[in-house]
Amino acid sequence: MKLVRFSDEYRKNLVGILDGDTVYATTWTGDMLGLLRSGIKPLISYAYRYPLDKITLQAPYIPPKIVCIGRNYADHAKEMGNIAPEKPFLFGKFSSSVIATKEPIRWSQSLTTQVDWEGELAVIIGKAGRNIRAENAYVHVFGYSLANDVSARDLQENDGQWARAKGMDTFCPFGPVIVTRDEIPDPHDLTITTHVNDDQVQHASTSLMIHKIPDLIAYISQAFTLEVGDIILTGTPAGVGKGMKPPRFLKTGDVVRVSIPQIGVLENPCIAED
Ligand code: MG
Repeated sequence: MKLVRFSDEYRKNLVGILDGDTVYATTWTGDMLGLLRSGIKPLISYAYRYPLDKITLQAPYIPPKIVCIGRNYADHAKEMGNIAPEKPFLFGKFSSSVIATKEPIRWSQSLTTQVDWEGELAVIIGKAGRNIRAENAYVHVFGYSLANDVSARDLQENDGQWARAKGMDTFCPFGPVIVTRDEIPDPHDLTITTHVNDDQVQHASTSLMIHKIPDLIAYISQAFTLEVGDIILTGTPAGVGKGMKPPRFLKTGDVVRVSIPQIGVLENPCIAED
């Protein structure tokens, strides 16, 4: 099942089921995070259907926590001049950095001039837990989505820690589709692609993740309780702008498009402000 949160002319925060180019209303009348917490499987309500181009897709919801994995693809670690870490390398992004597909990634040029993309597979937690064992990890996964771990490279390098570089407003495009776990039997058999305008910049299999999803969930949940709705950004493959020769950074008018065929497309324009 593909779930989306959307607004129409009159209402916001509707939960729908996406089928092709049509979004169907569901029997669930609450919001998306409420749905995840309920454990209920929503049913299609055929009474209302919306052509995709007549609605606005929102971010699926605002996650309680966004746990990110750095350097989880060897070729990306290498292009950044880093060694692939033996243990998962964790950091966080703020919930307030989340935006929906089509919303602009914005930054002030007085803060950063090196804004970069990182297309990533996002894991949606559906069952809370602490000290989760790797062999039980998938029981805690509700489904999968897309994220862009937007990063200000100059701040990442100079700040000492990454709160500003990774946590600025609009720096976490998320969604728009959540695909439930049953539809993706192997999340390490997906191909993730990122385009900047017409240029394909990232294209890799999720099989290349160094630390796989069950081990990430086990490792993370030793330190933090994973709560329903928390998301894990599983790391980005090679092909970020910082690794290019010469480096390429985002500018006003660029559009970043992250896609996984089984999940969908996450697309955001860019606006560099004075
Ligand atoms: Mg990342």
